[in-house]
Amino acid sequence: MTRPSQSERVLVLAPLGRDAEVAAAVLRSAGLAAVVCREIRTVLEELRAGAAVLLIAQEALGAGAREGIGEWIAHQPPWSDLPVFVVTGGAPRQDHARALRELSWLGNVLLLDRPLRRATLLSVVRSAIRARLRQYAAREVLAAREREVLARDQFLAMLGHELRNPLGAIILALDVIDRRGVAAPRQLDVVRRQSRQLSRLVDDLLDVSRVTSGKITLHHHPVELAALVGRAVEAQQPPAAAAGVSLRAELAPGEVPVLGDPVRIEQVIANLVGNAIKYTRPGGHVTVGLETSGGDAVLRVHDDGIGLAAADLERVFDTFVQVDSGLDRARGGLGLGLTLVKTLVTMHGGRVRADSAGPGKGSTFTVRLPLASPADRPAGADRAAAAPDARPRRVLVIDDSPDNREVAQSALEMLGHEVCLAGDGPSGIEEAFRCNPEVVVIDIGLPGLDGYEVARRLRAARGRGMVLIALTGYGQPDDRQRALAAGFDLHLTKPVEIDALRRAIERSDPSA
Ligand code: ADP
Repeated sequence: MTRPSQSERVLVLAPLGRDAEVAAAVLRSAGLAAVVCREIRTVLEELRAGAAVLLIAQEALGAGAREGIGEWIAHQPPWSDLPVFVVTGGAPRQDHARALRELSWLGNVLLLDRPLRRATLLSVVRSAIRARLRQYAAREVLAAREREVLARDQFLAMLGHELRNPLGAIILALDVIDRRGVAAPRQLDVVRRQSRQLSRLVDDLLDVSRVTSGKITLHHHPVELAALVGRAVEAQQPPAAAAGVSLRAELAPGEVPVLGDPVRIEQVIANLVGNAIKYTRPGGHVTVGLETSGGDAVLRVHDDGIGLAAADLERVFDTFVQVDSGLDRARGGLGLGLTLVKTLVTMHGGRVRADSAGPGKGSTFTVRLPLASPADRPAGADRAAAAPDARPRRVLVIDDSPDNREVAQSALEMLGHEVCLAGDGPSGIEEAFRCNPEVVVIDIGLPGLDGYEVARRLRAARGRGMVLIALTGYGQPDDRQRALAAGFDLHLTKPVEIDALRRAIERSDPSA
């Protein structure tokens, strides 16, 4: 016979007389592991060490039992439902029912009346151990699932990062080809659209893996929501036009100040408006409204598209959920956008909800964000960025990918800049002394010395005499913080478009 394990033990609590020893002896004689406890404190210690069943003499349920054992029972992990047997003095039926109700704080509790027969005790305890073993099995399944989720999130983060590098080169190369003028503009448009779609998917993947592991940090600023909504809606006009959907902003007059992370709030709006366009047929309408109500900014994205069934209104915010709308998969997406929206809104102290009168009747997504108090509002204008200045500059690009160097060089030369190149950290520093650039664009994942270290050394050697721009696949706020701490002036995330690169360089001024 195999020895019962620690977690198959039966704990017996009986403070007086020989009851506990007798019960324990019966259990042991049948090959079961029994541990006698005289005090609640001992029961709690043993429970922490692992047990399958708790057998209690009713007299032991005095003061302290409810706080001690009751607390433990109430805070069991989700897989656990410890079987508890209370051995009573033997009582009439109706008292038995009442006693059971009164002991409901013991959770999975069963009353055993005295005199207790050996066979009865053994059969109920054995069946309880069986049930407990199934609970342990469920615990293993849950733990394995958690490990899988963790591994999946790590994989998604790595995948997203790896995909960003080739995408960065493709998108920048496209911009260069485009500006040089080529003979096949339609095909080029297709490649550009699809690359942008790919890069949006990659961003969602990265964001969701960050969100689910709690790694997104917000950088709060006073935000004028009306202006931000206006800009976000404007940015969605081209895809709306391409989908044959009319998109309109209806903004109540006046400012709508909130305190939040403008990048993330814009992401929320872009996701909701993007969905509204995606799930509305050509000829349909999307309206984005903004007003204030009850101390909140209220943003409504309304469409007259395919709508949602009542059962899906909550569910759509869950990770990977996509409603089977009978539409083809051509609309794309991973079922992640609304998960991000909900998490980001909640992190801002707000709420989001979906409403629809049913399938075919359109949807409304409403976001409420707390309005900023006057103390949170900016004292003056936003910290103004340097004014753009398009004069040619000498730019050093340090990147270990020959493709990335090649497209960055073409892009920068096309913008009129003079370019020098290096392929790793140490030669990047050497080249910086040789070609004396005003701007250095540095990839972070470099061989030899990483981009952070290159930035630190250049800063130490040259003070603020050159502008350092990090150009990386790592696009999360923490990465940005790390880059700024290493001495970078700017942090651009791949894939970067030529205009973003141009703006970064034109706004850079070493003397600022
Ligand atoms: P995705 O759009 O990538 O599938 P989301 O998380 O953004 O993922 O949305 C989840 C699901 O919610 C979508 O697949 C769609 O079924 C539904 N949905 C979202 N927005 C709308 C909308 N405006 N109208 C109808 N259904 C929507």
